[in-house]
Amino acid sequence: MSKPFLPFAMPDIGDDEIAEVVDTLRSGWVTTGPKAKRFEADFAAFLGDASLHCIAVNSATAGLHLALEALGIGPGDEVITTTHTFTATAEVVRYLGADVKLVDIDPATLNIDPRLIEAAVTPKTKAIIPVHYGGLAADMPAILALAQRRGLAVVEDAAHALPTTSGGRLVGTLASDAAVFSFYANKTITTGEGGMLVTRDAALAKRAQVMRLHGMSRDAFDRFTAQVPSWYYEIVAPGFKYNLTDIAAAIGLQQLKKAHAFAQRRTQIAQRFNAAFARLPVLTAPEPPAGELHAWHLYPLRLRDDAPVGRDALIERLFARGIGCSVHYIPLHQQPYWRERYGLTAAMFPHSQRVYERQLSLPIYTRMSDADVERVIDAVRGALGGGA
Ligand SMILES: *Cc1c(COP(=O)(O)O)cnc(C)c1O
Repeated sequence: MSKPFLPFAMPDIGDDEIAEVVDTLRSGWVTTGPKAKRFEADFAAFLGDASLHCIAVNSATAGLHLALEALGIGPGDEVITTTHTFTATAEVVRYLGADVKLVDIDPATLNIDPRLIEAAVTPKTKAIIPVHYGGLAADMPAILALAQRRGLAVVEDAAHALPTTSGGRLVGTLASDAAVFSFYANKTITTGEGGMLVTRDAALAKRAQVMRLHGMSRDAFDRFTAQVPSWYYEIVAPGFKYNLTDIAAAIGLQQLKKAHAFAQRRTQIAQRFNAAFARLPVLTAPEPPAGELHAWHLYPLRLRDDAPVGRDALIERLFARGIGCSVHYIPLHQQPYWRERYGLTAAMFPHSQRVYERQLSLPIYTRMSDADVERVIDAVRGALGGGA
């Protein structure tokens, strides 16, 4: 009898989330309201810094867009990011009419290489968007130092990075202009769809709050009278519809309480994988520096040159054994839009290209049992001819 298919990813939703959503549905308030507000406050508490502004949005893509918009990024500007990411990281730059400069990764960490950022800076460069690939912090000390030296903004794509630390501090509390988390279905915590924009910059926060909901503001009225009637608002800009519903926030409130426990379980799985694959013809996932948290959103496995099969064949063999896998990422320089707009070739990004050709992502999520983890290990060993 064959075992049931083990999907690549699955959310971990329990009775707490269900009860909180039911409570919201019964409350009569289903869109942005008290639960979204509480989720923002809880998120700041989770990050342990009351001076942070947390702005709940309906996706990380929306949060990245709002952060760049608030920083004034526009036509004629350039923003530097990694080619080894999801298109959302870069597309938001184009929403604003600015241009994207893609750079290669450091193959040791799979994160953007700060030396290549430096080389890509031009007089038009306004910002850097580092991605904490898979949940391992990018080299933030180097990136923040470079940004300060060259007068650039830094917006962290923290879609994978809850919870991740750099220099012992949680991503979200670093000295960047903003960090944006994702609560998409397969992320480390989920609200179905959702995101959180985190910033210390009060002006950035204010602009993002207004632009999150149609460019609506009640401040102008506040200046003239203490009492703002509930029906009064002013439109100060052509804003967006990026607010998070209370139904989604209800899920987030309960997921956030489990974020550290979830991360501990994924860390256990990653450590088991790294130990089990040590003697195979593979490069195991990069480990965090001692004492740092890695969110382990992804477990990237890379085939060495002496592996008996290629990446595509390995994925097929794992599927045949009932294991779902994925690839992170098909780099942006390989995607028609980005390739054609900027005339990109694989030779410009040798490290990302090589990782793309040899990498697959294994299932790593809290609903996997120990038996599931061993099944993945046996399947990888078997597929690579290492027994089992
Ligand atoms: C998931 C993801 C996003 C987008 O998140 P959404 O919440 O789906 O908008 C952005 N960047 C990276 C690296 C991601 O993995």
